[in-house]
Amino acid sequence: MLYIKCPHCGMRPQIEFSYGGDASVKRPDLNKEISDKEWDDFVYNRKSLRGKHLELWQHISGCRQWIKVERDTATHEIFKTFKADEGVV
Ligand SMILES: [Zn+2]
Repeated sequence: MLYIKCPHCGMRPQIEFSYGGDASVKRPDLNKEISDKEWDDFVYNRKSLRGKHLELWQHISGCRQWIKVERDTATHEIFKTFKADEGVV
């Protein structure tokens, strides 16, 4: 079983968390004209790369906080976890 270290609660089993997607996606600036393709890329299109990846997870069965997890998508190794407002983006 995969374990994730919640920065608020400590080490917990993965079943307590819900995956929230790619944490490296940046929302387009407000009041800036963007193309339909740029909006589609922001909302729908993901690269789904193999390897080290920054992800959003929510600790739904614990503190309910959103956190960032740096994880290898091929091996599932977790390198580091951050509070939602911390970490690399
Ligand atoms: Zn937690």
